[in-house]
Amino acid sequence: MTQSHELEVVDVVEETADAHSITFRVPAGAEAEFSYKPGQFLTVAVPSDRDGLAARCYSLCSSPTDESGTLTITVKRTADGYASNWMCDQVRPGSRVRVLPPSGIFTPASLDADLLLLAGGSGVTPVMSILRTALARGTGRVVVLYANRDERSVIFAAELARLAAEHPERLQVVHWLESVQGLPTQEQLRAFAADRASYDAFVCGPAPFMKLAVAALKDLGFPRERRHQEKFVSLGGNPFGDVPGLTSPGEQVDDQVEVADDEPVVAGPVRLEVELDGKTHAFDDWDPRTRMLDFLEAKGVKAPWSCRAGECSACAIRLVEGEVRMAHNDVLDDEDLADGIRLGCQSTPVTDVVRGSYS
Ligand SMILES: Cc1cc2nc3c(=O)[nH]c(=O)nc-3n(C[C@H](O)[C@H](O)[C@H](O)COP(=O)(O)OP(=O)(O)OC[C@H]3O[C@@H](n4cnc5c(N)ncnc54)[C@H](O)[C@@H]3O)c2cc1C
Repeated sequence: MTQSHELEVVDVVEETADAHSITFRVPAGAEAEFSYKPGQFLTVAVPSDRDGLAARCYSLCSSPTDESGTLTITVKRTADGYASNWMCDQVRPGSRVRVLPPSGIFTPASLDADLLLLAGGSGVTPVMSILRTALARGTGRVVVLYANRDERSVIFAAELARLAAEHPERLQVVHWLESVQGLPTQEQLRAFAADRASYDAFVCGPAPFMKLAVAALKDLGFPRERRHQEKFVSLGGNPFGDVPGLTSPGEQVDDQVEVADDEPVVAGPVRLEVELDGKTHAFDDWDPRTRMLDFLEAKGVKAPWSCRAGECSACAIRLVEGEVRMAHNDVLDDEDLADGIRLGCQSTPVTDVVRGSYS
């Protein structure tokens, strides 16, 4: 299981009345583990009297190109939310917070691509990281549509204005205020994206905004590989796995390996081939009662994961041969499934050979 680290908070900025940016120092010696791609997130352990801890993901808004080497997340209060309010109320410079290293697949394949970034509310956080990094390291054009309730809820307003002024040839930022224009419709989002149909699109925001934006992109024929979305959901499980009295999802998985509810479909052993970071790993002894992620980890393969509960998609793998069965899936939609995308943390094989790629 991935090691958590206690990071020291070095800065807290009140971006708006209900959003705080929290900056962490990376501990000496852990720099490689905390290197990240723009668009990735940290998983934070929020202390809880009730459950020991509540695990929540927060996207990094900082850029890996930042010279400071620090990590910044931006947490927006959720009405009646537990963890977001705790983070905004309790975390101060000098606080120490347990986190898991960066994870996630909401990242551009190339920083030189033209990027269409559609964000709503706190969904701007990973978009900011992508934007900052693309401007610093890439060469393409970047267009941001950022929807908010009203002017006071716009996070990073000054920074966006500064970047747009600094990069007039490459960056265009369009603010959409519900207080002025009403909620954006699918037709309006479609019209906005129509001239950018060749761009790589990234969508993050409240569920209704994402639904309309993704439908608009589909209307315009954006292929799956140029249409990325990040869903902000709260994890139900505990990927930290070591709180006394609390069962971790990893432990639950092991239990299910021993006493699977469903009989395995194939007798096994199964051949599994996965491509990860340009390297192919092949094994002939996958026990069909074992989840793919557990099996790969047991073989020493550092496959990506975060929630281990089928809720976050950090462990997504695209199958190119064979099939698996997922015990639980809260994030992949029908189109993802039709494209062969599966959650490694939830998958057991149903064919004798399974081949897939994490790229
Ligand atoms: C990949 C990813 C990236 C994300 N990035 C961001 C981001 O950049 N910024 C951002 O603001 N959000 C982000 N989110 C959303 C974030 O992870 C949380 O879902 C959000 O902050 C709401 O969490 P909450 O606990 O405040 O609210 P809720 O999850 O709505 O809180 C209610 C839940 O807390 C439980 N609860 C209540 N009291 C307690 C208690 N005492 N102990 C334990 N549990 C309790 C309740 O049972 C209930 O399940 C991201 C999510 C994902 C998956």
